[in-house]
Amino acid sequence: MRRAKVRAATEHTTVGLAQAGAGGTVTIACACGMTLTNGPTWSLDEHIRLHRAEARFLALAQAAPPGIPRLVAWPLRQTV
Ligand SMILES: [Zn+2]
Repeated sequence: MRRAKVRAATEHTTVGLAQAGAGGTVTIACACGMTLTNGPTWSLDEHIRLHRAEARFLALAQAAPPGIPRLVAWPLRQTV
């Protein structure tokens, strides 16, 4: 599980610098290929934090031993 956490961290580092776009949008690329952005009710920083937390959760949940008590049912029914 420790390796899964490290892998999630390295696979989801931001790439390059934040880019300012039209209408006040700010985006930055993630190493996984997803573009992180601000929105009407969230900041770019909040999206980065959520993205990293989701990646960490998915990696740990995948690597966790069978039978371990869980807060979230696993496997998930649907992912992006
Ligand atoms: Zn990512």
